[in-house]
Amino acid sequence: MADKKFSKDELFATYPNLYDGISKSDEEVCMAFAEEYKAFLNKSKTEREFTENAIEAAASLGFSDIGKKKSLKAGDKVYASIKDKGLILAVIGKKDVKEGFNILGAHIDSPRLDLKPNPVFEDNEAVYFKTHYYGGIKKYQWTTIPLAIHGVIYTRDGVKHKITIGEDESDPIFYITDILPHLGNEQMKKPASEFIPGEDLNVLVGGMPVNPKKKEDRKSSKEPYKEAVLKFLYDKYGIVEKDFVTGEIEIVPAVKARDVGFDRAFIAGYGHDDKVCAYPALMALLAQEKPSKTCVTILTDKEEIGSFANTGAQSVLYENFLMEIVAKCGDGSLDMLKYRKVIAASKMLSTDVTTGYDPKYSNVFEKRNTAFMSHGLKLEKYVGSRGKSGTNEATGDFVSEITRLFAQNNIPWQTGELGKIDAGGGGTISAYMAKYGLSVMDAGVPVWSMHAPYEVISKIDLYYTYLAYKTFIENI
Ligand code: MN
Ligand code: MN
Repeated sequence: MADKKFSKDELFATYPNLYDGISKSDEEVCMAFAEEYKAFLNKSKTEREFTENAIEAAASLGFSDIGKKKSLKAGDKVYASIKDKGLILAVIGKKDVKEGFNILGAHIDSPRLDLKPNPVFEDNEAVYFKTHYYGGIKKYQWTTIPLAIHGVIYTRDGVKHKITIGEDESDPIFYITDILPHLGNEQMKKPASEFIPGEDLNVLVGGMPVNPKKKEDRKSSKEPYKEAVLKFLYDKYGIVEKDFVTGEIEIVPAVKARDVGFDRAFIAGYGHDDKVCAYPALMALLAQEKPSKTCVTILTDKEEIGSFANTGAQSVLYENFLMEIVAKCGDGSLDMLKYRKVIAASKMLSTDVTTGYDPKYSNVFEKRNTAFMSHGLKLEKYVGSRGKSGTNEATGDFVSEITRLFAQNNIPWQTGELGKIDAGGGGTISAYMAKYGLSVMDAGVPVWSMHAPYEVISKIDLYYTYLAYKTFIENI
């Protein structure tokens, strides 16, 4: 029996809007943090860019490649690039590594359109790139918006070329056309999943023939418009058509993150899923000097397509880094049983976004168990779909440990599920991390219009999420 009477306030669960009653100074700090996030997001639209910018930020604070360290001691800051598309960083703690790691894990890939291996074609005097969409998108959302090209491609000599076109104000952008409403009768009758077929997500990239002033020359080319585009790419990068097979070229919205609303409460941006969690997870780690336990931030690729490939959360490359820490905190050799016990003692927040309750689509939400925008970090014990299929589930004692820690440190949080049970479902990297035996729970920022080219988050959720992640890795 409880030994005291609770006030009504304590008896009922409340999850208030965090803007309600916010002090002027807290609001200023929150707004300033949002500015830094927007700047980072704008230059980190792809997993490669995020990795590069994160390494640059870490290196400026004294982080070095773990491969260069013979041994590790408290206060050492190390990282490993996962094929330039993922990243894992750590700050070595004062306590023995056998106490376990405190881990934050986010993903840095976002839904987009990838170029096919043979992308270039000409049709009726226009040139297009064929794309294959990546991640769960509503295909119709990607037509008639400004698009940019980001990526890398290798020429025949093996030289890597970075391509970014469409971000600078003076750059051209790229575009996917849609049919005019006047002639859209048939299209408009189709279900939304069908009215823009995947094979119609062709990106307009050119419309002038090669050598337009010399008519004879033009006749010698079967595809003068395509030839002009290929010639441009050859002149600028040395790329020929066959080189596209080496390309990792992503078509992303050519938009900058912008404040939303008269009061600037929200931010619209591309790739909030999951950079709005990856950024505070990175910043929480970079803020560490000599933490109690060893702190780790994991930034994975390929989450949007199942965490596969050698850069996804299922890749052992992330685990190799943790093994290297355990080995280098000792005599350099690895005792596998000791390593597994370190992992079993480790604690992690899987820092991935969730959906915010959207009153316009209230029918997909179960209002008592959903996250609300501006009500803070959402703790999610499980995700999955149908009968909790395919999910990790945090144990009660781990949830208790986290919620007690947050209460001690005045960290607000909310909780719930993704949406109504029969409405659908989703997954995060937590299931793949849990199999190593660590304690892990999902904890992320609510998003409106998730997976759309332009998503919305609340600045106050971002800020309190940063404080929550920092509190977690410093103190759990
Ligand atoms: Mn995500
Ligand atoms: Mn996602």
